[in-house]
Amino acid sequence: MHKSLHGMRCVVTAGPTVERLDPVRFLSNRSSGALGYACARAARSCGAVVTLISGPTALAAPRGVAVVAVESALAMRAACRHYVRTADLIIMAAAVADYRPVRMARQKLKRRTARLTVDCVANPDILAELCRRRRPGQWIVGFALESTRLLAQARRKLQAKGCDLLVANTVAAIGAAQQQAWLLWRDGREQRVGPCTKAALARLIIQAVVQSRRSL
Ligand code: C5P
Repeated sequence: MHKSLHGMRCVVTAGPTVERLDPVRFLSNRSSGALGYACARAARSCGAVVTLISGPTALAAPRGVAVVAVESALAMRAACRHYVRTADLIIMAAAVADYRPVRMARQKLKRRTARLTVDCVANPDILAELCRRRRPGQWIVGFALESTRLLAQARRKLQAKGCDLLVANTVAAIGAAQQQAWLLWRDGREQRVGPCTKAALARLIIQAVVQSRRSL
């Protein structure tokens, strides 16, 4: 494993995205960013040159990793499009908000009515887009977080998005010190891993990538 990604460029997305409603309110997802940051750290310790495109988190930049701070899904998509051009490995661990408000109010919205309806539009699926536009040899890892029928949904997502490896988690993983996960490869292989820390899971994900690339 040691320095097995030497000379390779890796882009990692992490954390939630924040979709502003007005200057003080937003829509977002629960995500600490811990697993994405751990993946960036693990790829870096294997010798990769790592760019971490991160939504707002409370985490410190991993040593030796360039962090690109973004807020919204559209900003994350723009950063991804720029940085993946030279990337060999792409790890999409961010919890991207599925929807954004159609409009951001310039002033703080006032509480005037008993009900409020927010008009939203779907955000682009960055992972699916990158998979469609990928260069030959580019390896893409996606994630899935499900509260029901984890494996069935993860298998469907692996196909629908077109990534090489999908890491499936249950909602119990959010904020947990230890977690289980499933690794699903495009060729149909599946492996259950953990319970282990997010740092250990990140190392297993990078190891899975290194081994899969070797057997290509
Ligand atoms: O569809 P779902 O959100 O469950 O997919 C999760 C995977 O897709 C994660 O790897 C996530 O980073 C990525 N994703 C994305 N852009 C979106 C939604 C999800 O890149 N708009």
